[in-house]
Amino acid sequence: MPLALVATPVPPPAPEKPDGAAAVLRAALHRGPLGRGSISRETGLSPAAVSRHTTELLALGLVHEPPGPKAGAGPGRPSIPLDIDTRYHLAAGVHIAVPRLTFSLTDLRGRVVAQEQLPRRQPQRDAYRDVAEIADRLPGFLRRHAQGRSVLGLGAVTGGWVDPVLGTVVENSALGWADVPLRQVLQETTRLPVHVESHARALARAEVLFGAGRSGDLVHLVVGNVVDAAIVAGGTLLRGRRSGAGGIAHLPVPSSTLRCPCGGTGCLEATVSDRAFAERAAAEGITPRPELGLLLAAARSGDPAALELCRTRLRLVAHAVALLLDMMSPHVLVVTEAVTLHLPELFPVLRDEVARHTRREPGGLVRPSSFGREALAVAAGAPVLGAVHQDPLSLRTVGALR
Ligand SMILES: [Zn+2]
Repeated sequence: MPLALVATPVPPPAPEKPDGAAAVLRAALHRGPLGRGSISRETGLSPAAVSRHTTELLALGLVHEPPGPKAGAGPGRPSIPLDIDTRYHLAAGVHIAVPRLTFSLTDLRGRVVAQEQLPRRQPQRDAYRDVAEIADRLPGFLRRHAQGRSVLGLGAVTGGWVDPVLGTVVENSALGWADVPLRQVLQETTRLPVHVESHARALARAEVLFGAGRSGDLVHLVVGNVVDAAIVAGGTLLRGRRSGAGGIAHLPVPSSTLRCPCGGTGCLEATVSDRAFAERAAAEGITPRPELGLLLAAARSGDPAALELCRTRLRLVAHAVALLLDMMSPHVLVVTEAVTLHLPELFPVLRDEVARHTRREPGGLVRPSSFGREALAVAAGAPVLGAVHQDPLSLRTVGALR
């Protein structure tokens, strides 16, 4: 174990070049194992700076020199390739959704090491009961799965309007939460540094670090019980005033006349959410109860009415996708949504409908999440991993990752 994780807080010296260590770490993440010369070319840092940052990252246990052939076996010293070291550190996370809590541990490459799910008592509108449940369950989860590795912090992720700066859930209508100081109460109960983030932005960050968003220009649309979007431009997550960017739940859907709790009609979330389609499936006699899982199971078994209802949802979602493509012109637009997750063969229905509503070519641009059925677990840990990859030297101070 590296010596860096001592329990004495040490103020970090101001780095000469704040982005240097993060750039070296990012190069190892995306291209590792990679020789120092290649890292220098890739990052634009001088060989001396790469060498200094490598020493810092090695001491923190964030990179290592895996055994294997040395790169650049020409004249001079051979270059020992660097890679991300996944042996020492883990990110803990909890994803809070209407039906369940998902606990996860992810390594520095964003790979899910362990996850457990806990059904939520419903209806459950008291955020503090969820927090008590998380605090109760987390220590056992970490004991069972962390196996001596250091837990860098706890990500707390949910849908809707989340302000990571203040650490609050401003509004999650599906949970019935408003102005919940999630970071403060979780920090008090778990004693871990807590990073609060919205589901859409957490997954957008994960796509940039570990998935399809390496170009740094990405839009991520989440359609679940909550519908929202996240926008990454030039590698930076757009937050907007009070972290309200990407709140597209109340965009109008032209053909919809469904009532929305906001008082309007035909809002995107009220029209396409998991709950809306579960209720629609039950109302149309496709499922005995309003449960999205039953609709998906019926569609998977080939029920024509269930399949058509799934296609209808994708056609409605396509309006929002087309609008986001036109507005943001990203390199990639990722859609995380249950129908395309469970019936990936229906993804072309979404793409074809997007093509009808935009002048851009959605062919290679619109794609499903890189994380498939692990998306909730990855989302939960992503704010912690994002903080480490953004500012790796902050690990030199205990509790600095806030
Ligand atoms: Zn509305």
